[in-house]
This record gives sequence, C-alpha cells and structure tokens, in this order.
Amino acid sequence: MDCIFCKIINGSIPSAKVYEDGDFVAVMDINPVSKGHLLVLPKKHYVNMMDMDEEILKKTGIVLKKLCGAITKALGVSGVNLIQNNGIDAGQIIFHSHFHLIPRRPNDGIKIGMEHRKYEEGEMEEYANKIKNAV
Ligand code: AMP
Ligand code: ZN
Repeated sequence: MDCIFCKIINGSIPSAKVYEDGDFVAVMDINPVSKGHLLVLPKKHYVNMMDMDEEILKKTGIVLKKLCGAITKALGVSGVNLIQNNGIDAGQIIFHSHFHLIPRRPNDGIKIGMEHRKYEEGEMEEYANKIKNAV
C-alpha cells in the first residue's frame, strides 16, 4: 500500500522516532506547528479514527497520556494540544489515522483554528436532537 505512515512504521522511509510499542509509534512531525510536535501512529493502517477498532482506541488514550506527560516533562511546556483530523474537510492530508500532540508555551502566538460562531434561535436544539438520536 502506498501509505507514507505505513512506510515510516516499517522503516522503509526515515523518521525521528521517539516511542514504540506493539501497537503504536510516535515520530516527530517534519513540519511542526511548534517545536516538539509529535505524531502518534497506530501500527495497523486505519484510514481515520472512525475506522479504528475499540481495543486499539482504548490503548490510544493511554499512549496519548503517556506521551503528553513525556512532552511536558522533557520540554517544560505549559500545555499540549491534542488534534486529530478525520476526513479531507477536517484538514486530514495523510489517510493513515494519527494524533497530533502539539506542545504549547506561554504567548506562543499559535492559532489552532477554533473560530466560534452563533446558532440561530432553536438551531442548537435541532442539531443536538439529530446527534442524540444517532448515538
Ligand atoms: P494531517 O493534516 O492531520 O493529515 O497531518 C499530516 C501531518 O503529517 C502534517 O502535520 C505533516 O507535517 C506530517 N508529515 C508529512 N510527512 C511526514 C513525514 N515523512 N514524517 C513526519 N511527519 C510528516
Ligand atoms: Zn498506512
């Protein structure tokens, strides 16, 4: 399969790996949003988070917590953004599920892009009901 992250995982293209276990690797993002930006990759190829099975998702939470801890300890940063893009319209470029861990420092000027908007009257409840009924 022609997947750049599968190639990183199997070692056929180079990466700066910082963590590996039976299910995951974590590598430095080559174009970091901030210094120390990590990508956490499940070794198995899933297209995105919705594609991942429940067992690996449970393990994902644990590995993300471990690596967040490592980032804050190693770099002395005051915060970390956890970002996960699902689908092209959500900004996903590489279609092998992955989690971004982005170290944050006071007044670093980074904009992660949450631009908040308003609902029309009654609209929020409409959306809430649609989602509630689909869960
Ligand atoms: P996304 O928009 O969530 O699909 O993000 C893909 C990320 O992969 C981007 O932040 C890229 O900078 C990063 N990236 C692309 N190629 C490589 C590579 N060879 N090694 C490490 N990170 C990469
Ligand atoms: Zn892959």
